[in-house]
Amino acid sequence: MAIASDERYSRQMIFREIGPEGQARLAQSRVALVGCGATGSALAGLLARAGVGFLRIIDRDYVEPSNLQRQTLFDEADAGESLPKAIAAARKIAGFNSEVDVEAHVADLTPANVSELLSEVQLIMDGTDNFETRYLINDHAVSLGLPWIYTAAVGSYGVAMNILPGETACLACIFPDSPGGVVETCDTSGILNSAVNVVASISATEALKLLVGACTRLRRTLVSYDVWTNEHAEVSTGRPRQGCRCCDQRDFVHLAGEGRPHITLCGRNSVQIHERQRPIDFQELTLRLSPHGQVRHNDFVLKFWREPYEMTLFPDGRAIIKGTTDTAVARSLYARFVGS
Ligand SMILES: [Zn+2]
Repeated sequence: MAIASDERYSRQMIFREIGPEGQARLAQSRVALVGCGATGSALAGLLARAGVGFLRIIDRDYVEPSNLQRQTLFDEADAGESLPKAIAAARKIAGFNSEVDVEAHVADLTPANVSELLSEVQLIMDGTDNFETRYLINDHAVSLGLPWIYTAAVGSYGVAMNILPGETACLACIFPDSPGGVVETCDTSGILNSAVNVVASISATEALKLLVGACTRLRRTLVSYDVWTNEHAEVSTGRPRQGCRCCDQRDFVHLAGEGRPHITLCGRNSVQIHERQRPIDFQELTLRLSPHGQVRHNDFVLKFWREPYEMTLFPDGRAIIKGTTDTAVARSLYARFVGS
């Protein structure tokens, strides 16, 4: 059903700081979203409904039942089909705003593909759940002078920060190194859907300000909010830190991909194998795997169960192996059943 833009966005255009001019700018805007889990779902939903013209959604994962409590773009059918999140998100957005041009990429953002996947956009939104990918986004964005918005939530707590290269601190100014030791994850600390939505709403609003050109309104702090304890704080990020590896010394170690390990996903007792770049024929592999366990596939994923492990394969050869956090076990399963 075609809906006139004047009607669809009427309440947003009445808001004076956006108005018809701001709405027209949003329609011309190009944004990349990395990660479409909890915060990513909320960000994608808000930006698409607000009328951002082009949205590139990059996500490496598929929908599972435990996502539905907080990942607002997905439903039970998506989880039943194990649909990749990027595909499910694009379908869902098409259902409520078919005017948005959504480009879905089922992929892990890596040093090898970052410049391609984050090309031709004016803003990058962080919907990821890990510092490794965030540092990669930070290096890429700072190297090109592109703004990006950091958003994270765990437990009842969320944080958000705008990174405006050359003007404000970057992620590495504030967190020079990935937090070491025991890091809270959704698995160890759980997560409240309301904490996700608070910070996603803050970040989506900052994105709208930036895209309509209301740059004096952009927040120049790292804001944190705990929806359970009501504690909140803001730390100034108004200036880049002298000596920062990334924005001062311009030493983009994460773009160079030094020492990238196999990745253990957030809170899922699983390991990702992403060393393969060879397309996989799902039909052929299904025949080959069926004597060894239960196997099924659709156009986007192949799932293979062999107790106590569950392997999910993507057409480019990437795999997520559930049931272990041992990369050697995951690697050997992959070598045995997919190929080495
Ligand atoms: Zn910096």
